[in-house]
Amino acid sequence: MYFRCIELLESRGVKIDDIVECVAYLQKGYDLSSTAVMREAVENVIRKREVQHAIITGVYLDMATERKEIKDDYLYHILASDYSLYGVDEVLAYGICNLYGSIALTNFGYIDKDKPCIIKSLNSKVDGVCNTFLDDIVGAIAASAASRIAHGVKIL
Ligand code: MG
Repeated sequence: MYFRCIELLESRGVKIDDIVECVAYLQKGYDLSSTAVMREAVENVIRKREVQHAIITGVYLDMATERKEIKDDYLYHILASDYSLYGVDEVLAYGICNLYGSIALTNFGYIDKDKPCIIKSLNSKVDGVCNTFLDDIVGAIAASAASRIAHGVKIL
């Protein structure tokens, strides 16, 4: 499943390194972890089963939207237009963050508002492309990886 998720993300234009870049963005001003540490944290997040389920569910819905397989017109319109008040894409992403505590949720809110690195390009509207769920999934993985790093820092 881990490799299936990596392949699925890559098929949607998201590489591990793109997510690591988002982690580095979140870590600015805090613990300056090496790229290897951030990469390991991202990989660990993606190894969790619930995270894998969120990835395949969200990406499937994005792809089904692109293929016009969503038979409910109202829902299709919401997904295809990435309607800002839909909110279910963020709720799916919380499912990832919830596994990593309150820091992950705070990080997610920040990254969702700022939309740095690859999240910005995932969010830009391109005809026929739907990344309604993917941008939040990527943000949540980065937010969770940063939280994982924060929890590993010794304070005493
Ligand atoms: Mg979204």
